Amino acid sequence: MQLRAATGLVIAFVIASTAATPAVNALADPPGATPAPTTRPMIAAASATIGIDLRLPTPGPTPPPTPTPMPTVMLPAPTPMSALARAADYVPPITNERPLPACKYDVDVPTTYSSLDDWQITMVDPTYTVPDTYAPNDLVSAAPAGFYSGYEVRSFMLPDLTAMASAAADAGAPLGLYSTYRDYETQVYTFGHWVGVLGYGQASLGSARPGHSEHQLGLALDFTTGSGGEPWAYYNFARDTAAGAWLSANAWKYGFIMSYPYGKSPSVTCYGFEPWHYRYMGRAAAADIKASGLTLREWLWLRQPGLGPRADRLLVFTGE
Ligand SMILES: [Zn+2]
Repeated sequence: MQLRAATGLVIAFVIASTAATPAVNALADPPGATPAPTTRPMIAAASATIGIDLRLPTPGPTPPPTPTPMPTVMLPAPTPMSALARAADYVPPITNERPLPACKYDVDVPTTYSSLDDWQITMVDPTYTVPDTYAPNDLVSAAPAGFYSGYEVRSFMLPDLTAMASAAADAGAPLGLYSTYRDYETQVYTFGHWVGVLGYGQASLGSARPGHSEHQLGLALDFTTGSGGEPWAYYNFARDTAAGAWLSANAWKYGFIMSYPYGKSPSVTCYGFEPWHYRYMGRAAAADIKASGLTLREWLWLRQPGLGPRADRLLVFTGE
């Protein structure tokens, strides 16, 4: 029994040593380093021989731990599919119960969640802004959903956008796109255009300042009718067009929420009523927003940094 136990230890040690070799090599050979081709095969051969002969001295309890091999470098980048899976069934938890702040148009507060992975809780409004460098790295053409190929959206939105466009067409309300992703520089131009047309005050209610636009997130879509044209040319796109009416009733089922709805815009949303502007949130979150009766800004505010998870707070406040 003693011999068998010792054998097991030796074999385990040899296996561990062999298994650890590539990691050690990887650490020892940064790119550009001079390789040492003869040394390591000799070590490996010696280990194998010793293992067979069982003449190796009893090893210590465990081989020395392999140095931590920088796991973040080795992990694959999140794929669009994982984001889609998350969007389909994920509703970000409430973390904040502070009152919704008033709309301010003369300050730039960096929004907390500006990682691309945090897209579901990234809050932009006239106060909160993403950096000018914020740019999705997974933009794809909306062409597979039946739209002009020049329109770009974040990749994980495409299946739901495709399903929604198909359902709208089947219902006799074909959709068109008028604007999708806009980078920071384009928003500089867009906002400047509206300031020239409307003046700064009115422009601020109808167009986001650079860094404050949901379009820079790659999540916002301005829809129009299947025949195209400016959606704001209608008195009320949501009432006066089949496409707008269908979206108003059904877009949430496909994960899209009207960001600036009638009756709460601009008082709550900080922008004027925009019946053509929708932000993708994923189906589960969109259903949650719909059921809550909250505007998107209110719903997102509950998920900004606050007083900690609601359950934790209740525990504290009830003294249990
Ligand atoms: Zn828009």
